[in-house]
Amino acid sequence: MIRIVLLVVVYSIIFLALSIVAYNTWLQYRGVNLPYSSPIETGGETPDFIIVVLLDGASSPVVQSYIRSAETSVLLDMGLFLPNGRSVYPSYSGPSRASILTGVPPAVHGVVSNEGAFKVKITGLIDLAREKGFKIINIGDGLIETIFGVKAVAIDEGAGQGSLALKKAVEVLRANLSNGSKVFIWVTVNDVDVIGHKAGGFSKEYNATVKNYLILIAGFISEISDVLNRGVVVVLSDHGFKKGGHHGGGEDTVMNTFMFIAGRGIAPGVCYEEFLLIDIAPSLGILTSIGVPPYSMGKALATCLGINPTPAEMKRKEVYNLLGTRETVSMFTDQLWIRLFIITALFIPLVLEVRRIGLKPLTLGVAFLVIYIVYYVYSVRVYTFSDIYSFTEVMTKIIVAVVVVSFLTGLFAARFYPTRGEVARGLIGAYLFIITVVFIGVSTFLVPYGPVVVFPNPDWDFAVRYFAMLITGSFSGLVGMPIALVTAILIQKNR
Ligand SMILES: [Zn+2]
Repeated sequence: MIRIVLLVVVYSIIFLALSIVAYNTWLQYRGVNLPYSSPIETGGETPDFIIVVLLDGASSPVVQSYIRSAETSVLLDMGLFLPNGRSVYPSYSGPSRASILTGVPPAVHGVVSNEGAFKVKITGLIDLAREKGFKIINIGDGLIETIFGVKAVAIDEGAGQGSLALKKAVEVLRANLSNGSKVFIWVTVNDVDVIGHKAGGFSKEYNATVKNYLILIAGFISEISDVLNRGVVVVLSDHGFKKGGHHGGGEDTVMNTFMFIAGRGIAPGVCYEEFLLIDIAPSLGILTSIGVPPYSMGKALATCLGINPTPAEMKRKEVYNLLGTRETVSMFTDQLWIRLFIITALFIPLVLEVRRIGLKPLTLGVAFLVIYIVYYVYSVRVYTFSDIYSFTEVMTKIIVAVVVVSFLTGLFAARFYPTRGEVARGLIGAYLFIITVVFIGVSTFLVPYGPVVVFPNPDWDFAVRYFAMLITGSFSGLVGMPIALVTAILIQKNR
């Protein structure tokens, strides 16, 4: 019996270690090191101001459903609406901001999470604007402060944060125009994202918040309409939301973004051309004559914006050449046989013991797994990046599930066996079976991809489930088994 307990504990610790390796290797991703490259100058005169308003988390279909309403249709008279944008992967706020400003996907710029201390090393629109003599002002965006090192003008957080931020933007714009300095203003409206996370991306509250901000943005543009032809204003979103969940994954509702652009040289209307977040940097760079960022991999939105696409295209080709044929695929096929060998070797002790545990513990183990899966489907629901708001939240959900189901398993076991000794032996056998099943599940990821969760991973949804399996396995052995044992033994005593 001691041997089985040891096996359960040792394998649980292996699962825990693997989960830490997976999490850390993901957070330690720092992008691709590319050789030096310079931006492409496009000539032409820069405008007096560039304003980017990030309507964080506003899904394009929701924006489309309101933008023609009486209160906001003025937007379509003043600027160009592009409803068909797509976010990057992972569709978190930090990675998408970095892509908007550099024209590079997260796999290259290296910002792959909102957690951890990610910084972008490569030159983006902010640097180009600064070189062209623009003052850079970041209004209310802590992520832009961390990622790009542009200190944020603090805006009080809470309902209406975005309204205060827009007000501040008008103030900053007027002040700079009146003393003759060019200014690049990044403004972030948080409210839509905050409500999306709290109430879900299909809720009344979320829809109302998007509508409210479209009205506020229409007001904002109207308020600066006297100077609009001296600059460019872009309003855009970084991602949408999953129904009832968060964002981060590749679901359609999460990937939908929009862009609205008004000002110097922009013909108002609607342009249905599809675009990616990485197309924004080169397009804006050409439109405002600050140049195409040195590692830009996007296309210029030539049809919508009436700009010359050639500089963006040249850059794109150059960067793809710099990237060359990356060996991401071979990383997963290299050492495949070694991984298969190690995992098979680790599987043998489990199988040898499981064979001997008997039918009753097996039934208990199956009961645990069935209840756990039902609980998972109805309550935990972590399947893709979009189901992860924070690491702590995922851990808590899974640990609670393990504790509840282990307690139930303990209750069942007490009815199953007549004596304390037997119930203890039965439960320990059951947890060995559970660990074995988790081991098989985890192996289906470990054999093809290995323990280091590199970015980009060929199958991120699978990687998320792999991580969930590891946490489930380790906590089942380390926390679940003791809980089940104590529950069963205490009940046994009372009978
Ligand atoms: Zn966001």
